[in-house]
Amino acid sequence: MGTDDCIFCKMAAGQVPVAKVYEDDTVLAFLDIGPISDGHTLVIPRQHFERIDDCPPKLLGEVASRLGKIAGAVVAAMKSDGYNVLCNNGQAAGQLVKHLHFHIIPRNAGDGVFKRWPAYKYPQGKPEAIAEAIRKNL
Ligand code: 5GP
Ligand code: ZN
Repeated sequence: MGTDDCIFCKMAAGQVPVAKVYEDDTVLAFLDIGPISDGHTLVIPRQHFERIDDCPPKLLGEVASRLGKIAGAVVAAMKSDGYNVLCNNGQAAGQLVKHLHFHIIPRNAGDGVFKRWPAYKYPQGKPEAIAEAIRKNL
């Protein structure tokens, strides 16, 4: 998907209306149209990159540096107990809009959001092998 047919690029350019939460020269934050809790907010860089791993580190740092301020305001306004920051990268991970974005999802105790966290245990030796494989790809 190029930037011409990207809905989030259109939002960043002011061509599509959004319920704006925050903006500056680098990022735009707005309410998700399909919230999983009240106040569910998306934070995007104005510039189009698809994923964390193809976003230039400096820009990624600039986006990340805004998350605390925006999340703090979201949870204060929603009077929530906490929040998740989530970034889906790739179709397999649930990314539907191919413009890098961070979800800020207000949470309350017992709200039932993300009911299941499918944790399991590694067999012996596997963590070391996986960590080495990752290190080799850095
Ligand atoms: P993803 O699954 O790609 O991580 O999440 C994309 C998010 O963008 C979804 O939660 C979806 O509700 C939101 N979204 C998609 N289209 C629009 C839109 O036109 N306006 C707003 N405000 N949010 C959108
Ligand atoms: Zn885009």
